Parts: sequence; structure tokens; C-alpha cells
Amino acid sequence: MFYDEVEIYVKSGDGGNGAVAFRREKFVPYGGPSGGDGGKGGDVVLVVNPHLNTLYAFTNQREFIAPNGEHGRNKDQFGAGGANLVIQVPSGTVITNAETGEFLVDLTQPGQEFVVVRGGKGGRGNKRFATSTNQAPEIAENGDPGEARRLKLELKLLADVGLVGKPNAGKSTLLAVTTAAKPKIAPYPFTTLQPQLGVVALGRDETFVMTDLPGLIEGASEGKGLGLEFLRHIERTRVLIHVLDATAPDPLGDFATINAEMVSFGHGLADKPQLVAINKLDMPEGRERFPALKAAIGAQGYEVFGISGLTREAVRSLMGRTYQLVQETPIPETQSAPTPPAPGGIITPPPVEEDFSIAQAAAGIWVVSGGKVERAVLRTNLNYFDGLLRLHAYLEHQGVIKALRDAGVQEGDIVRIGEYELEWRDEE
Ligand code: GDP
Ligand code: MG
Repeated sequence: MFYDEVEIYVKSGDGGNGAVAFRREKFVPYGGPSGGDGGKGGDVVLVVNPHLNTLYAFTNQREFIAPNGEHGRNKDQFGAGGANLVIQVPSGTVITNAETGEFLVDLTQPGQEFVVVRGGKGGRGNKRFATSTNQAPEIAENGDPGEARRLKLELKLLADVGLVGKPNAGKSTLLAVTTAAKPKIAPYPFTTLQPQLGVVALGRDETFVMTDLPGLIEGASEGKGLGLEFLRHIERTRVLIHVLDATAPDPLGDFATINAEMVSFGHGLADKPQLVAINKLDMPEGRERFPALKAAIGAQGYEVFGISGLTREAVRSLMGRTYQLVQETPIPETQSAPTPPAPGGIITPPPVEEDFSIAQAAAGIWVVSGGKVERAVLRTNLNYFDGLLRLHAYLEHQGVIKALRDAGVQEGDIVRIGEYELEWRDEE
């Protein structure tokens, strides 16, 4: 649902032309044909590099043109082949033909290669055309042209790094100042759903995906269905940055609370390597308390950074260390894969038909009514992304989203649920 997408242009090399040439040597009276073949053009090859995790590198380069084969020359010299052009992509990159939408390949295995366009064949030189009746052919082939294609590369992004911490610790601020690119968001019905997820880029190929996790934790511990996608995000997260507000009344207490929440959430969250970022050191109070906080948290075995998201002090070194840790930490085995049905079979009851109804109040205005659905909206804090997310998951589960679609809701329509109005957005 969060994804990177880029369109690139690839062209393989043209084959070199074959040469027409004859030997003209002192002691070879009837010098034969000696035109060499042209070389093959280079292929464009995609290869999976498991150390990449975003398509960020493609922001700098979108055109990939493999070298042409050299033309053949006299004295039987073949033209050199053009080298293959290798493009590294992250595991999980899906390649389609950008013009036709045709699916080409899903590149998943480290080292997996895929030739997207083949170099043109080199033309044959005249030497190849000599026959018993034509000893001096003045004929050679041209090389075949290379192929050009526009490709769409898509990568589903999963978070590598999760920010955890109490509300107001400074997580969103840290995400905002470190994020080089905001990934696209797969279409959601409601415009206001804006996940907090960004690509942190230390260099062209040194990137990781960072996200805000605490809202998700709260939602899940309340037993609200967050959906498998989000669970996957959390499970895939390799490193946590625990953001602590040094100016809060009880930073050490906050630290313990969040750690305890992570233990009760499960899904391996509490076992992930954790860097502690003691934040707001631009404030005199924070600066003053920092040494004691660092000592106390360091004594619990954590690596501690003193930062200010606001002035960006030490943010870069924190991100550098984070990247290192991401590289060192293997991707966790996901636990959220669908479990096979138990032997004997489990009967799942069909979803309960909900008592909601949908009415069109006016052109472009829809009203969803039903006690249960309205109560769910009332319970949701729609100012927060995770609140909306939860609501969306709930409405989807209850069949409201589908019912709205079936009723003919259009992009830009207003959907009223209780006292809330949401704008429908449907990009698919
Ligand atoms: P979140 O709830 O953890 O996402 O926290 P926010 O990033 O929204 O920050 C909460 C408040 O703290 C906002 O008013 C920020 O401007 C402020 N804040 C965040 N980082 C810093 C910092 O490094 N120094 C200071 N002085 N304020 C900060
Ligand atoms: Mg926030």
C-alpha cells in the first residue's frame, strides 16, 4: 500500500555493421574478402541487489542506454560487443511495460537477473559472403538495431525502521526532517488518510524506509483490526528508534511505559534492536537533564543519542548509525503469513450482515446510517492518521466501503457518517 514507483527508459545497444574489405598484401595476389563482423550490442539487464530497499536511486537516473557493438573492420577484425548494462533493483520490484501495462517480471530472489532488452546482433562482414562463385563479395550486413522500452518499476515499501515514543516526543518532527521522499500511497477511499512513512536517504544507494509506529501499537492493543498489511509493516521493521522528550515530566517513566507496551503488543516488537534518541536538547531543560538520562538508559544497555529534531543537531549521526544497524539486522521472519487451516477443518462463520443503510441525500452526497457504524465513527479520532486507518479497516470489514461502491459513489463525493463528513477518493 505504500509504494515507490518510477518509469525508466531502457535501450539495448545496436549491433555493429559488418565490414566490406579486401586484403591488399604484397604477396597475396588476389586478396580475398576480409571484412569482419560487427559486434553485438549490449543487453540491458535487471538484477536484484538485496541490499537495496527503495527505488530512490532512480530519482537521479531514468535513462539506461547500453553501448552499441563496434563495426567490423578490415583484416578480419570483428567489432567488439557492447557491454551489458546492469541495473540494480531491490528485491520485490515488479516490472511492467509502461506503454502497454503488460506485466514482465516480479524480481524477488537476490541475484535474480532479467534481460529486459537484448542488444542487436552484429552484421556479418563480407568475408562471410564469399562463395565459390563470388570470391570478392561487396556485401555486408548492417547490425540489428537495439530495442527501446519504457518500463515501470514498482516496489511495495515496507518499513525498515519504526519510530516509537510517547505522543509529543517529536517523532513526526524527526520523520519530517530526515525524509528525502514521501512514497506514494495506494488509493484509499478517504483523502485524509495520509500514512506517515518516508524514505531516509544518506546516499544514492543508502536508503531506508522509516515510519511512525506508536499509533499502530495503540490500535492493535485495543483489539481493533489493523489489517494484515500493517502487521507486515511492524513485523518487517528491523530497527526501532525510541524518541524520548527530555523536557517531559518523567522521561524515564515514559521510556519504561513504551517498552512495556511493546512487550504486550507482541509480534517481536520488543526484541528489535532499539536506539534511544533523547530529543529536544535545544531546550535548556533538556540539555541539563541529558547526562543523567543518558547514564540511566545507557545502564540498561541501550545506545543513546542526544538530538534535537528542531535544530537537527546530531540527527545525521543518528540516521547513519540507524542505517548501519538496518544493514546488520536480518529481515525478521514474518509471522503474519496466513496460517494453513487446521486438520479437520475450522468452520468460519460468515460475516454478520450489518444493520447499516446507505442513502443518497443529494447529488454527490451520501449518508451512511446505522447505530453500530455511527458509533464507530464517534469513537474514532479522525485527526489522526491511525484513527482513520482503523475506521477504514472497520468500514471495510463491515462491508460499508463495498456497499458505497456498489451504490455508485464517485470521486469527490461527500460521505456522511453520523456527524462526520468524509470526501471519497477512489483512484483505482
Ligand atoms: P510526535 O507526537 O512524537 O509525533 O511529536 P511531534 O513531532 O508532533 O512534536 C510534538 C511537539 O514537540 C511539537 O510542538 C514539536 O514542534 C515539538 N518538537 C519536536 N521536536 C522538537 C525538538 O527537537 N525541540 C523542541 N524544542 N521541540 C520539538
Ligand atoms: Mg506524530
